[in-house]
Amino acid sequence: MVDLRGLPSVDQLLQTSLANQLIQSHGRPLTVEGIRAALADARTQALKGGSLPSAEDLLKSTAVKLDEWVAPALTAVINATGVLLHTNLGRAPLSPEACEAARNAAEGYSTLEYDLEKGERGSRGLGVEAILKRITGAEAALVVNNNAAALLLVLSALARRKRTVIARSQLVEIGGGFRIPDVMAQSGAKLVEVGTTNRVHPEDYARGLEEPAALVLHAHSSNYRIIGFTSEVELDELVKIAHDQHVPVVDDLGSGALIDTAQFGLAHEPTVAESLSAGVDLVCFSGDKLLGGPQAGIILGKKDYVARVRKHPLARAVRADKLCLAALHATLTHYLKDEIEAKLPVYRMLSQSLDDLDRRARVWADVLGEGEVRDGRSTVGGGSLPGETLPTRVLVLEVSQPNRFLANLRAASPPIIARIEDDRVVLDPRSVLPEQDGAMLMGLRTTLEKSKTRSLR
Ligand SMILES: *Cc1c(COP(=O)(O)O)cnc(C)c1O
Repeated sequence: MVDLRGLPSVDQLLQTSLANQLIQSHGRPLTVEGIRAALADARTQALKGGSLPSAEDLLKSTAVKLDEWVAPALTAVINATGVLLHTNLGRAPLSPEACEAARNAAEGYSTLEYDLEKGERGSRGLGVEAILKRITGAEAALVVNNNAAALLLVLSALARRKRTVIARSQLVEIGGGFRIPDVMAQSGAKLVEVGTTNRVHPEDYARGLEEPAALVLHAHSSNYRIIGFTSEVELDELVKIAHDQHVPVVDDLGSGALIDTAQFGLAHEPTVAESLSAGVDLVCFSGDKLLGGPQAGIILGKKDYVARVRKHPLARAVRADKLCLAALHATLTHYLKDEIEAKLPVYRMLSQSLDDLDRRARVWADVLGEGEVRDGRSTVGGGSLPGETLPTRVLVLEVSQPNRFLANLRAASPPIIARIEDDRVVLDPRSVLPEQDGAMLMGLRTTLEKSKTRSLR
């Protein structure tokens, strides 16, 4: 058995110049911890019959550990999946202006809650609320951490311990553990389901409202679609039925498009303006879905209701932070200036022509000297436009082990996320930021070379 006394001590290792470099780059306490961990590994290995590592080897494994410990929490990746609002990949990429605004807010002090004119405390989010009201025509606005928080807050403020009427077909689960009935239960609202799984009629709502209720909730079905023998009650009709009983209507729009998605060749996604003009009292939606901004929950609607929501104690717990407010404001400015197609990555991606996509995919194939360009379908994702796809042109690679190839792509730097269709690797240029084309081709080429040397062996 190896004599563990042959291992250098922590102090001996700390005296070396390699350790000194690590102390410079990672700080002394972390370096000491790294050395201890490397020594512990070496002892375990030696007890299993391995040989003792040299001081240099120990410091090399220390360096690996230290790099791992200080690696950023998030790794930037290239999204070649063709899913534009990919929830697992961070949904909407921000515009350069939104990034800049967040950066400015992060670097120094700001008027987050400060009134420059009066020289005293001001209220948070005023600037963002003003621009939201200007764009949508809503009477009042409030921004919170995300749309799940928005809905929880609205229900807590308006419907706690009270009956809340909702169609059974809208009791959806969205993924990431978001379920409308669970959020309702958490808020203390009493769920009153009306209608059936596939159909709800005006009479169902009217019956649900025969006993006093606090509100009617309308929720976007988000990531699924009911087809076949179905019926829904139009929003304006629903508003009329509820208002006849003096009950407010809240619409959880989910994605919450501010513009008509039909202009991008997509199906129509219900817009915020449509909800408001149907007479809904409050709408809530996400900031990082079709809006194209940072994670946020946006609540818009009638003054009195927004005021009640704002006053609820939970509002403080779910408030938006300054980076979010800054980025959201900059994102909304693009709407005000009618420049979303030029500025917001999501809309740039949506408005790419088939010709352009074809050209990019062909350049990829040319540079790689490999693959075929074919028709494909991109999807919007993020719980918007369920089942809707957009025609695209994709690069298709035939490789011997597609799953292994995808894993190698994920190990590239930056990692490339692609998908498999019919046993072939598919890469969609639509969701790849054009400035990432070069980096992606380098990663692809290396991965292809690796898979070839392996198959030659
Ligand atoms: C996405 C979605 C939510 C949750 O929004 P987050 O911003 O992700 O918290 C809530 N309701 C609907 C209908 C949604 O589509």
